[in-house]
Amino acid sequence: MKGAGTLIRKGTGIVECRICGLNFLPELKEDQERHEQEHLKILAGALPYEIREFLKKVGWEILKNEDLQETPAHLETAKRAIAFAYWARVISNSIPENELQPYMAATFAWLDAIAARDQAEIDRTSEAMKRWNKYGG
Ligand SMILES: [Zn+2]
Repeated sequence: MKGAGTLIRKGTGIVECRICGLNFLPELKEDQERHEQEHLKILAGALPYEIREFLKKVGWEILKNEDLQETPAHLETAKRAIAFAYWARVISNSIPENELQPYMAATFAWLDAIAARDQAEIDRTSEAMKRWNKYGG
């Protein structure tokens, strides 16, 4: 069976993919196509929703709690985890690849402002991020 080792049977023919998280009926052609699309997005750099949310949750917990910031490098990794989670979302919404650098620069500026608790800078950097709203960023 295609997907052996990564599909969990959920009953009544529905399976859940452990890679992309999709629940679907493997016998249905449209479900097969939807599933293939999900994997193409992952190959293009997207992450499944639950993985993005997990990265953001852990990253934000560290960013907002100085007791969890073991070292400056650890804080930077937390910021990168959040930035990657957001990037994975916009790449799944077809942001052009040449937007990686400006998008990440703007995201890091925003996260730096939040970590520094600088409200004026948070407002300024949030405004700068709006140009990517159409990609769900
Ligand atoms: Zn899948």
